[in-house]
Amino acid sequence: MAERLQKVMARAGVASRRASEKIIAEGRVKVNGQTITELGFKVEQDDSISVDGKLIKKDEKKVYYLFYKPRGVITAVSDDRGRKVVSDYFEAIPERLYPVGRLDYDTSGLLIMTNDGDFANMMMHPRYKIEKTYIAKIKGIITKEDLRQLSNGVIIDGKKTAKAKARKISTDIKKDTSIVSLTIHEGKYHQVKKMFESIKKPVQKLSRETYGTLTLDGLTSGQFRELSHNEIRELK
Ligand code: URA
Repeated sequence: MAERLQKVMARAGVASRRASEKIIAEGRVKVNGQTITELGFKVEQDDSISVDGKLIKKDEKKVYYLFYKPRGVITAVSDDRGRKVVSDYFEAIPERLYPVGRLDYDTSGLLIMTNDGDFANMMMHPRYKIEKTYIAKIKGIITKEDLRQLSNGVIIDGKKTAKAKARKISTDIKKDTSIVSLTIHEGKYHQVKKMFESIKKPVQKLSRETYGTLTLDGLTSGQFRELSHNEIRELK
């Protein structure tokens, strides 16, 4: 049965469907040796597909890694300006991995890397309310009213955020900073930073500590480990 090229690419673990469309439009994909840039293009089961000159295996084994992303690394598979990207840490892994969601360049913490496009799409879908806990160092002294506002929802980009859990960890009166734990299940662009901006206490440092049931336990910055089938099942 003929299927859309981007669908086959996503299933083979090249990238999410949307990202695969971009790769196609960039002229990086060949089908049976011919460059295809048309998005509706359909392929048959035995067509050979290559991306950047590398043949994709259509039934590649699905693998899942939990990665402790360091600060100062881009959540991307490549960067045209040569900056460090998350994929640089996975050079020894034969599968083409890509990140599930993203963490900012200056954010550290838990990031899942996989070649399972369906799983990645599912995790990123708003319907899947996966809880993520962030630890933020912010400017200013956090108040009970701030915590209440963050928990009930604040307005970012003209929309109210969903209910969250906000908890004070510590404050440093001399330095005028606080450490706050914030658990959210949405994943809007720069959500945590924007939530703290809305209460006028900007984030100075941010780290994602948990994702669903997963934690960074046992890993140091830059390290990764494979996820077990049970851990994947618990997320779904
Ligand atoms: N929220 C942010 O503002 N940045 C991240 O990296 C993740 C969540």
